Amino acid sequence: MSNNKITIAIDGFSSTGKSTVAKQLAKHLGYIYVDSGAMYRAITYFAMENGFINDLNFNIEAIISQLDSIDISFKFNKELGFAEVYLNDENIEKDIRTLEVSSFVSKVATISEVRQKLVEQQQEMGRHKGVVMDGRDIGTVVFPDAELKLFMTASAETRAIRRYHELLERGNNVNYEDVLKNVQERDYIDSNREDSPLVKAEDAIALDNSNMTLQDQFDKILQLAKMTIEGME
Ligand code: C5P
Repeated sequence: MSNNKITIAIDGFSSTGKSTVAKQLAKHLGYIYVDSGAMYRAITYFAMENGFINDLNFNIEAIISQLDSIDISFKFNKELGFAEVYLNDENIEKDIRTLEVSSFVSKVATISEVRQKLVEQQQEMGRHKGVVMDGRDIGTVVFPDAELKLFMTASAETRAIRRYHELLERGNNVNYEDVLKNVQERDYIDSNREDSPLVKAEDAIALDNSNMTLQDQFDKILQLAKMTIEGME
């Protein structure tokens, strides 16, 4: 294999297994993995902790005015084998995965000022290539020149079942109907927002993994990555 490092952009709907395969791929190729969704979740968590967001209130101005005091970073956790997300030096990896954060995050992600801040940071993280980044606008906005772009899909029910089990395993007390509703709501907001909506980049390869095992999916994507890297030699 050549020393040419590429950029791999993985976009798609909520809970399509993007981060699972992105982590596997990054580990196998010795690339950096960046979970861009974790960054939107971190800002949402910050806004919730500061009382800018709750069931009755959504204070966009307050969020925008505090953006400069939000520092998001990733630190590699050797035991887990991936980088955890930190907000102003506090590890918030577990705090951002709750259904409550999920219920507000897509609305926070519609704010252009939030997107601008995070896209800049994401582009900086991928400046030297050798990165696998997953999200909603990676192939369209963050890295439009990525050598390999994937667009993952699966039925909403398949995705909700996956997310439901994931949340239960983490000890979150949730019911399936709420998880399905959240997945559908986020799909809708993410696909219909004005700034950088979730769409398949023209040159992205679509992959429906509803009926694929994790191993099948990884094998297929690894093969695509290897072909892309070899094509650059
Ligand atoms: O990937 P994850 O499900 O953790 O993303 C959470 C939310 O963050 C998405 O539903 C979307 O609203 C937002 N997001 C985004 N752009 C990205 C990544 C995530 O708008 N690149």
